[in-house]
Amino acid sequence: MHFDYIIIGSGSGNSFPTPEFDDASIAIIDKAPRFGGTCLNNGCIPTKMYVVAADTARAAANSERLGIHTTFEDADWPAIVDRVFANRIDLISRGGEEYRRGDECPNITLFDGHAQFTGPKTLSTTLDGKDVEITGDSIVIAAGSRPFIPPVIADSGVPYLTNEDVMRLPEQPESITILGGGFIAMEFAHVFQSLGTHVRIVNRSPLMRHLDADIHDRFNALAAPRYETHIGRTVSSASHDDNSVTLTLDDGTAITSSALLVATGRIPNGDQMNLSAGGVEMDERGRVVVDKHGRTTADGVWALGDVSSPHMLKHVANAELRAVRHNILNPQDMVPMPHEHVPSAVFTYPQLATVGMTEAEARDAGFDATTKIQNYGDVAYGWALEDQDSVVKLVADKQTGRLLGAHYMGPQASTLIQQLITVMAFDLDLRDVARKQYWIHPALPEVTENAILGLDLEFPTV
Ligand SMILES: Cc1cc2nc3c(=O)[nH]c(=O)nc-3n(C[C@H](O)[C@H](O)[C@H](O)COP(=O)(O)OP(=O)(O)OC[C@H]3O[C@@H](n4cnc5c(N)ncnc54)[C@H](O)[C@@H]3O)c2cc1C
Repeated sequence: MHFDYIIIGSGSGNSFPTPEFDDASIAIIDKAPRFGGTCLNNGCIPTKMYVVAADTARAAANSERLGIHTTFEDADWPAIVDRVFANRIDLISRGGEEYRRGDECPNITLFDGHAQFTGPKTLSTTLDGKDVEITGDSIVIAAGSRPFIPPVIADSGVPYLTNEDVMRLPEQPESITILGGGFIAMEFAHVFQSLGTHVRIVNRSPLMRHLDADIHDRFNALAAPRYETHIGRTVSSASHDDNSVTLTLDDGTAITSSALLVATGRIPNGDQMNLSAGGVEMDERGRVVVDKHGRTTADGVWALGDVSSPHMLKHVANAELRAVRHNILNPQDMVPMPHEHVPSAVFTYPQLATVGMTEAEARDAGFDATTKIQNYGDVAYGWALEDQDSVVKLVADKQTGRLLGAHYMGPQASTLIQQLITVMAFDLDLRDVARKQYWIHPALPEVTENAILGLDLEFPTV
């Protein structure tokens, strides 16, 4: 079978066909039991649906400071699982697959097996369970990434969970050990702890170690009392019985929980696709090598998203998809992959959001940097929140008034930062940003206004 385009992966890849491709024959291949990729089925979207439940539980348990007497009693875990999956995610996934298989997409064929290269622009996969070989004029690899499982766990034979199954557990575990200290670990730690599970965290380094040092230190100080943390520790061995998993750490401590969640990072899926047969190079981490336009080392083969990107984030995969699609349609007028000012947010407690450089990165890069750490608690809405912990830290260039980095830790961090993403994207001068617009009083963005005004810059008086 031959196609004009073959897309490997139904995550971001599923958004490739736009009306410009209505006359082209397109194959979309995905081996997963659920259509639509990681973000929809077991990543960004369902995790945030759990986080809203967790935030609500946490608010109920922590309202005394506002003079409100509420308590958190317990969570109806099966009801949450149903709300997230049966009533929402699985419907969207099934609907997306049916749409692609239906009359509205006559030029698209869905393949349901593992795809791997057998030659240049040639792949083996399955169609309705039968082995097939297909060729394409152009191939887009959007095959994503998978959880990395450290050998000490993988080789031990202990049962473990990842983001792919932890949200569909039939029952809420009484206790859970989370291996890892990055964004996935911190979101699940917040979810389970808020819903009443005893959370133990094991991590080699402090939590969220890539953050700006001032945010990082504050985050770790707040996280420590919430969880049973084993920081600076590695796992020496793992064992299990019918009801629990025990990890023995390098200091001899044995910790036992009813479940083990592995969240020690993600690896690109390039190593599972026999790429060399197709002339597609990958690096030592399994990441498909692409040039600045998204082209792999094989003519007519492109890659985007987690499988090739330096940023494993859905908004980056989406933006890369738009760039690759444009470049395929406009070979004489190609655009670079959009990797400037990439923001990210972590929906843990407290919420985190960041864009641009940390203070250390700005100074290492030679900028004459000015910084300001602004407490939420020093603006009016922060008083309303009775907030004592939340901050925004800005890093700016004293010479030009340009923002170099913004780092939030606190309520609405992922929303507040959007204004500063705009500032960076449009290269605005912070002196104008502070004074040429209204800041609604007494709304939370005043924390951003005050942070900007706290920088060592000359601001207009009116
Ligand atoms: C728990 C969790 C939370 C996250 N939260 C956020 C968030 O809040 N914000 C954010 O921006 N990002 C978040 N991410 C990251 C985000 O999910 C990914 O960056 C994004 O989904 C990557 O999209 P993609 O299209 O590259 O790959 P995917 O969506 O993973 O799609 C790849 C598809 O390819 C299929 N596939 C792989 N190999 C083959 C093969 N050989 N043959 C056939 N099919 C194959 C897979 O089955 C999969 O369906 C989160 C990730 C996780 C795990």
